[in-house]
Amino acid sequence: MAKNNEELLKNVISHAKEYGFVFQSSEIYDGLSAVYDYGQLGAELKNNIKTYWWKAMVQMNENIVGIDSAIFMHPKIWKASGHVDGFNDPMIDNKDSKKRYRADQLLEDKITRYLKDGKSAKAETLQTAMDEALKAEDLPQLKLLIEEHEIACPVSGTRNWTEVRQFNLMFSTQFGAMAEGADEIYLRPETAQGIFVNFLNVQKSGRMKIPFGIAQIGKAFRNEVIARQFIMRMREFEQMEMQFFVAPGTEMEWFAHWKQARLKWHLALGTSPDKYHFHDHVKLAHYANAATDIEFEFPFGFKEVEGIHSRTDFDLSQHQQFSGKKMQYFDAEVDETTGKPRGNYIPYVIETSIGLDRMFLLTMINAFEEQDLSTEDKTDSRTLLRLHPALAPYKVAIFPLTKKDGLPEKAREIMNTFKYDFNCIYEEKDAIGKRYRRMDAVGTPFCVTVDHQTLEDNTVTIRHRDSMAQERVAIADLQAIIGDLVSWKNLLA
Ligand code: ATP
Repeated sequence: MAKNNEELLKNVISHAKEYGFVFQSSEIYDGLSAVYDYGQLGAELKNNIKTYWWKAMVQMNENIVGIDSAIFMHPKIWKASGHVDGFNDPMIDNKDSKKRYRADQLLEDKITRYLKDGKSAKAETLQTAMDEALKAEDLPQLKLLIEEHEIACPVSGTRNWTEVRQFNLMFSTQFGAMAEGADEIYLRPETAQGIFVNFLNVQKSGRMKIPFGIAQIGKAFRNEVIARQFIMRMREFEQMEMQFFVAPGTEMEWFAHWKQARLKWHLALGTSPDKYHFHDHVKLAHYANAATDIEFEFPFGFKEVEGIHSRTDFDLSQHQQFSGKKMQYFDAEVDETTGKPRGNYIPYVIETSIGLDRMFLLTMINAFEEQDLSTEDKTDSRTLLRLHPALAPYKVAIFPLTKKDGLPEKAREIMNTFKYDFNCIYEEKDAIGKRYRRMDAVGTPFCVTVDHQTLEDNTVTIRHRDSMAQERVAIADLQAIIGDLVSWKNLLA
């Protein structure tokens, strides 16, 4: 990672802690690795990101509905989905440092190093050999590649490796009060299966017609072996997933549609398009017939924030087979090619799956700015979060200029009329400049100041976070002005 990128990530992480966005879980007990807590402002920002997604996916689409399924599910579901047998990472331990690594990531780091050193032929050979070994699940071959390319443990510096073994990423626990005789169940590693197993419940109770989608936001758990980069790779995280059910043969059209729709969702936040790209999968999972990742340029490189997959009828067919229940849909629409109703079939599925925590990190990184405000006379700077107003934890801060002369009462009066519509914060401590800076640092887009003139003519100043410009407006107009600026319409229309 380049020095200034490393610095940026470090600064965002410490800013997130200092202002109550993200804390290490169980910090007073020295923390729990790859688990994080969202603080008072983090919870607000996270909720706003969820709302943006839910509105865009569920409320703006007549043919998409949202559900909230349980984390605990019947253990057979994970057999059917392939997670019990296939949700593995190839792992290797260094015997000296006792550290465990993902074998493919060690090889990928080596490829990156070769590319950096201008050894592109070597990088390409290793890439091909690694891809082949992964595809064939040839674990001894992965070990051989690690040895041949003289990869050493970054901690011990030695090449004293164990064999490569598969390591399942699902957490398990006992279901039922008695450990004895209780069944082992899993914490769900993705929210998608809760949608698949409810497909017919929703379709029938909602009288849904294909094409239609089911969305949900919820926690997922993966026992990630290498947890790094802050909230990028966590053991407990949140996903926002949507499964779109379509007629077989129409999936490629819908895949193209959702690729564009999801990118548009990201770009509406004002992010520069060159920060994003699609990474189309060349090698596909056995159940997919097309797949792409939306990647964002994090300080540590372009990384996946969202996956879009054409999953064919794999999941529903598997559940039909494992549960013994029909997962078919009767389609009365006439197929243009045959002139007959399409009849019964298992729908095909396009999935969009975005990590809420990765989206949160992306949003913080994008918004974080250290601005030099120095003039010839004095050095000055500020740290600000340029969050989109619709996402900002506080929409408006309300300040009495001083603590006396009835200004606090007037400011409270305004706050009391606003608080039903916007998340507001009232602050009377410190000089006004200092209060503005604190609001810049947490991304509050507007500050309203009540001064002595307010008592005479019922006007206040509104100060804009990004431009620092101030204007005087009538209190009577304030709610409409702010309402317009923070409206979801600005993102969704
Ligand atoms: P990666 O290759 O980075 O492990 P993945 O391909 O396993 O991700 P998916 O199974 O497609 O990820 O999950 C969909 C989304 O869930 C990802 O795009 C990512 O944003 C998020 N996600 C997956 N694993 C984690 C994790 N451990 N911590 C935080 N977010 C995650």
